[in-house]
Amino acid sequence: MCAFVVVPRQPEGMEEFSVSITEAACLGASLALSGIFYYLHKKSRTTVKKLDNAPHFALDGKLKDLLKVTPGACLRYAVIEGTVKPVGEPLTSHFHKEIFGVLQKFILKEHRLVWSGLSRTWLDTERVLHERVNMVPFVLAGSDETTVKVVSPLYAAGNHTEITNEKFHQATFGFGELVGQYLSGEKPKGLLELEEMLKVGTTLTGVGEVILDTDGNLSLRPPSDGSQYFLSMADFETLRRENDNMAAWWKVLLVASALAGSAVLFWAGLRYYRHLKVRWEREKENREFVRRQNQDARLRSDGADEDGADDGSGNACVICLSRPRDCILLDCGHVCCCHACFRALHHRKCPICRQDIVRVLPFYQP
Ligand SMILES: [Zn+2]
Ligand SMILES: [Zn+2]
Repeated sequence: MCAFVVVPRQPEGMEEFSVSITEAACLGASLALSGIFYYLHKKSRTTVKKLDNAPHFALDGKLKDLLKVTPGACLRYAVIEGTVKPVGEPLTSHFHKEIFGVLQKFILKEHRLVWSGLSRTWLDTERVLHERVNMVPFVLAGSDETTVKVVSPLYAAGNHTEITNEKFHQATFGFGELVGQYLSGEKPKGLLELEEMLKVGTTLTGVGEVILDTDGNLSLRPPSDGSQYFLSMADFETLRRENDNMAAWWKVLLVASALAGSAVLFWAGLRYYRHLKVRWEREKENREFVRRQNQDARLRSDGADEDGADDGSGNACVICLSRPRDCILLDCGHVCCCHACFRALHHRKCPICRQDIVRVLPFYQP
């Protein structure tokens, strides 16, 4: 009599499903970028909205009169326009003695070519090595002699300086250095020396908090409610449009990174679904195998009463070498292993001929 003991167990041949490091990294990066882009988009949208709501004032005696009757003598966020005038002696350009300004920046930048393995090209990169700022107090002057003192201009966004001197110092190299650069993937191109100035007489659009102090002087300063402070050579419309475009750009980047994140999620989900599908199919196949095995065992015990217990010397599974061979692998037809070892196979290939296993059936030796 032949007895089959079926021990249900998980198929060992299945690898456990796991999210790969690349997927996790891509998902994390797109999540973080989406967060950053959302924040920047929101911030520039708020700035545009505030710019739209900011009242415009002509810089003349009426502004003072208005502030005198305004509570707190303060306009929280207002747009004014005026010409730059130094309060005392102006600054002189180091390179052009005829240029005067109120704000002067010296910038030394290093330009390098860095080899990018990703795009297979040399990319131009720059790094600020040194920056120095000189400043003298200045005002914005209106049509009559009304002036507004500009407070903390360095906090202001917007383009308000012009390049007054630009010089590039080319780097030169010997042969040894060139080889070194090739190996390290970094080539210094040279140094860029810049002088930028906010020139006397420039017309500036200023957006910020306007106050009238007790001495009757007007000042423009960074808004106390955290709104963006602007000093720009562009007119108000251009300034608004630039910020509007910026907000649109952040939105585009936000959508792109969110889409990339969803694509990664979709891909991982698809992989997981395939993994589950293979698992269901294997389980179904195992159930079918066991059912047939039991059915055949019943038929055999009804028929012959021979002692089917094989000591397994010539019939042992080629993998575990202990249990009897009890399954036939199709399509190759090899009878070489036990069902437990078949289920533990990593790849569904016949251990004898390496052909793909399409189906497995119980097998009995009479
Ligand atoms: Zn075996
Ligand atoms: Zn085979």
